[in-house]
Amino acid sequence: MILQNWWFTSLLPHEYPPIQSLQKDIQVDVLIVGGGMTGLSAAASFIGKGLKVAVIERNVFGGSSTGRSAGFLTPDSELELNQLERRFGIEGAQKIWNVPVSGIDLIVKRVKEYNIQCDLIKQDSLFVGIGRDGLDSVEEEKKSRLAAHMDVQTYGSEQLQSILGSQHYTGAVRYGNTYGISSLQYAQGMKKVLIDSGIQIFEATEAHRIQNHTVYTHAGSVTADKIIIAIDKIKPSFSSYSKEVFHAQTFLSISEPLSDADYKALFPSGEQFQCWDSTLVYSYWRLTGTRRLLLGGGSALTTFMNHWYNQDRIIASVIKNFRKSFPQLKNLEFVQFWPGLIDTTRDLLPTIVRDPRSPHVHYAFGIVGLPWASFCGDFLGRVILGEANEDELKYFSYFSDRRYFALPIWLQNFMGKPSLFSLNNLWAKYYQVDLKRKLKFDSKDF
Ligand SMILES: Cc1cc2nc3c(=O)[nH]c(=O)nc-3n(C[C@H](O)[C@H](O)[C@H](O)COP(=O)(O)OP(=O)(O)OC[C@H]3O[C@@H](n4cnc5c(N)ncnc54)[C@H](O)[C@@H]3O)c2cc1C
Repeated sequence: MILQNWWFTSLLPHEYPPIQSLQKDIQVDVLIVGGGMTGLSAAASFIGKGLKVAVIERNVFGGSSTGRSAGFLTPDSELELNQLERRFGIEGAQKIWNVPVSGIDLIVKRVKEYNIQCDLIKQDSLFVGIGRDGLDSVEEEKKSRLAAHMDVQTYGSEQLQSILGSQHYTGAVRYGNTYGISSLQYAQGMKKVLIDSGIQIFEATEAHRIQNHTVYTHAGSVTADKIIIAIDKIKPSFSSYSKEVFHAQTFLSISEPLSDADYKALFPSGEQFQCWDSTLVYSYWRLTGTRRLLLGGGSALTTFMNHWYNQDRIIASVIKNFRKSFPQLKNLEFVQFWPGLIDTTRDLLPTIVRDPRSPHVHYAFGIVGLPWASFCGDFLGRVILGEANEDELKYFSYFSDRRYFALPIWLQNFMGKPSLFSLNNLWAKYYQVDLKRKLKFDSKDF
């Protein structure tokens, strides 16, 4: 098993527009910094709007979290519906759940509209419980979905074995309208779409600093009326918002293609699912279009590490546990693995802000999940275009950097960022209740 991102490996047979870097000073109406799911979704909202738009990306389009991800397109990125219900009540939870739901719709719509080859596969979600606690989580999720009038199907341990070839799980919740995707292929496909529609794309172009309306790179600058910053791992030298984000580390591996017998052993009914389990540092798996098993997970020790952990020790243990749950697949070989750092805020919801010091600059950061990123980018694009309706402007309030967090940011000076973010993440996921807090919001501000 070698250290290599499978999505880059599988990009090789495809042809995408060549990489161009910014080498001069240019002027545009809108500049987007960052070509991940958020930035490209923002850029796509300007297609056909008659504005001069540019995107600068320090890597290649999708080269960071987006292109490392497992490509699960499910609204349940880090917070399950019942956890949102605890925090915001059932109506609030529904409203917030609709954010990633519409993010998924947007991605699927674009794939179809522009005929993007990105291994998009319809795969129902299967959240599987382990032990008594896992079964309780399954039951709670079922209750919340029913309360929110959402589709749901649950399975007991024995029933589950007819669709998932393991005796390890105590139950499961299943729901639809979810997909698997190669988000690196999607990002590169969208790059072509954006270029064809007249948007200027500069890759291998890092924004070093922003001053008033101008963003400076190593060999040029972009001056713009409006600017959307959609970057990850924000450096303190770039923006003070860097203190508002940290990351969680997870690991992925990819197997050789499954034989027919292996496929049947994994999904006995023939229908495939995207699955994750109920443990805190959960394992997750799904098949790619070439029937390779994508398996991910992590460890408590490495999740909040400051840096990448490039050894195969953690993923080897995830694979070992997977083989215990699916002994029929004990000979399945894994060929590549890679780590990834997912940017997060303290409470696992994204942050979207218009910088009060420079109202022409919008930021979206700490976005956990491709569907959320897809929504946030599109939302900011539509805000700039004046197309976001009055009701939608509530998202500035829901996802404000001034919303309630259990632990204040200054605590990181004493306890360090990893401790602050891990404790606050845990609190947000398992205990936080936001219901009684009044969200301060005045649509006139936007
Ligand atoms: C291993 C892994 C597995 C994941 N699995 C899933 C999954 O299965 N499903 C899911 O929904 N989510 C998953 N995620 C999370 C998901 O990938 C992210 O939440 C999402 O991609 C965030 O998109 P983004 O555009 O905000 O960030 P990014 O994709 O990180 O994009 C930010 C972009 O900004 C660029 N950039 C940074 N600094 C600068 C600068 N100064 N100048 C110019 N450009 C800059 C970066 O190169 C990058 O391309 C996973 C993440 C990882 C790491």
